[in-house]
Amino acid sequence: MTSSSSSTSRSGSRKHVYGVPSKCWCGKALDTWVSETKENPYRRFYRCKIALQNKSEAHLFKWVDEAILYERLDLLHDFQALSKDFSAQLQSQRSLLLSRDEEMMKQIKDNLLQMSTMLNEETQKLKLVIAAKDNSHNNSIFTTNGPITKFTIAIAVIGAMSSIYWKLI
Ligand SMILES: [Zn+2]
Repeated sequence: MTSSSSSTSRSGSRKHVYGVPSKCWCGKALDTWVSETKENPYRRFYRCKIALQNKSEAHLFKWVDEAILYERLDLLHDFQALSKDFSAQLQSQRSLLLSRDEEMMKQIKDNLLQMSTMLNEETQKLKLVIAAKDNSHNNSIFTTNGPITKFTIAIAVIGAMSSIYWKLI
């Protein structure tokens, strides 16, 4: 069982056409003609051949200049919508980058603070070690500027640095 409604399709095809029309409401191809009326002399319009032969029937009629103007306006509208969309996307990407930057800066600050605390602790330990060594050397035959003292300080510094390094990784 088939059902079809020609009236529905006819009325459906009579919608207003924006821009340059591709075919007439009757389904035929459109041609461009030149108006010879007093009101619109030499103005071009779209019309199918059947419409010119049978003027009582309803067929599509459209001025060429208006069709082109509306098509350009449509293009402009599309371009503006695209531009707005692009701008919104750019803004969201920018916000994302800024929030990531803030997160990264906070992490760097935290790490620096941690490193600074560790460095202070190790410096304190080093000072204690040096002070202890100095005290013991005052009672020994070595002078504080002797090679053994320098060697001890160097070992202590390396120890402190490696300690910091292992705490960081
Ligand atoms: Zn037609």
